Amino acid sequence: MLLLKPKCENRDGEKIIQSRIGLEEPCEFAENFLVGYNGEHYDCIIVDEVQFLSPEMIDKLSDLVDFHGITVICYGLRTDFQSHLFPGAQRLMELADDIEQIKTICWCGKRAHFNARLLNGEMVTEGEQVQLGGNESYISLCRKHYKERIVSNSTAKTC
Ligand SMILES: [Zn+2]
Repeated sequence: MLLLKPKCENRDGEKIIQSRIGLEEPCEFAENFLVGYNGEHYDCIIVDEVQFLSPEMIDKLSDLVDFHGITVICYGLRTDFQSHLFPGAQRLMELADDIEQIKTICWCGKRAHFNARLLNGEMVTEGEQVQLGGNESYISLCRKHYKERIVSNSTAKTC
């Protein structure tokens, strides 16, 4: 098995994938691996933060499946903080054999498909799709609360 992550995804430091439950695993940069791929066989390749890969890299991942018999499993976000598909995520949805949505829940209890970017606790809707090294954070919201920009129960209006 091999773990890959995009080069730009360096929150966890160089060539480490860190999961939310505290596991750390060494990994390769996906772009380097895909461009320099030498035909080596793996049973399975797991890609983290796949939304940051370019559509071309997603095509190369699908070649590993079709021409090299490798199972490729990708994890990542579907849409950015402005509710638009990441280009890499779009290509992945076009090519993937199976897509499974991981259930995320808004503070109100509904399914949360939208990722809001927070800056100092306030939801922001302007900015770069990929903001690196910033001190913003993200929260999952349902569509209604994404539209209303209500990011938690405590900021909801009382009638
Ligand atoms: Zn909600």
